[in-house]
Amino acid sequence: MINVHPVKIFKDNYIWVLHDKVYAIVVDPGSSSEVISFLQKNNLKLVAILVTHHHSDHTEGIGELIRLFNIPVYGPKSEAIPLVSNHVSEGQKILSEVLGITFTVLEMPGHTREHIGYSIEHPFNGVFCGDTLFSCGCGRVFEGTYEQMYASFNKLSQLPDDTLIYCTHEYTLDNIRFAKCIDPENLTLLKYESLCEQLRTEQKPTLPTQLALEKTINPFLRCNDSKIIASAQNYSQQFANNPVEIFSILRQWKDNFPKKSDCSNEKAI
Ligand SMILES: [Zn+2]
Repeated sequence: MINVHPVKIFKDNYIWVLHDKVYAIVVDPGSSSEVISFLQKNNLKLVAILVTHHHSDHTEGIGELIRLFNIPVYGPKSEAIPLVSNHVSEGQKILSEVLGITFTVLEMPGHTREHIGYSIEHPFNGVFCGDTLFSCGCGRVFEGTYEQMYASFNKLSQLPDDTLIYCTHEYTLDNIRFAKCIDPENLTLLKYESLCEQLRTEQKPTLPTQLALEKTINPFLRCNDSKIIASAQNYSQQFANNPVEIFSILRQWKDNFPKKSDCSNEKAI
């Protein structure tokens, strides 16, 4: 049986550790000490590292982990991640024989140019999507284009509906606050907010999330939905209806969304 465990680092990052109680694979180790403690506590042997993109909160722990374990590091080709030993690209399979898992590489540029994700189909459907999709939200578009990010979201939305999505930041409640401004009458969203508030009160992660749920609550996955389109048009005062335009309006709206205030359709100052 494969367990997937979140190791919390920094303010709101999760490093995901897959393990079968003997061997472990770690995704996006932005720090090493918390991973090492988790491995020691559970008596696990680390066999590989997977990296989604070059940001330091996803890569800073690699050096110490490979010094201790001498293991392969899979990741995209990027000068900014020199410690990646095995460069991977779209469609490539990574087989972990000891864990009996095959990862499929999905290129998903937008947050960064080289960003990739890793999907699995067995023993369950899952995807490690780095900073591309967050529950009820979306990563910032730092290096790529809105078209690229939207295409990356489309790629994720074509995975099976029961796919568990292992996002790397605990941004869910903040994202829900934004989503409620766009889609205030969405009952599934309101119920999800109560559930997530309860989980956070108990200091539990709201993740992983599931694709079927995200398709009903995540505005960035619903750029064809008439309610989302109407909200985007109202905010931008533009007659946009192309899904990429809607996506880019939502992303820019979120970039400027007030940190602490009630919902408002007025642009942030
Ligand atoms: Zn990032």
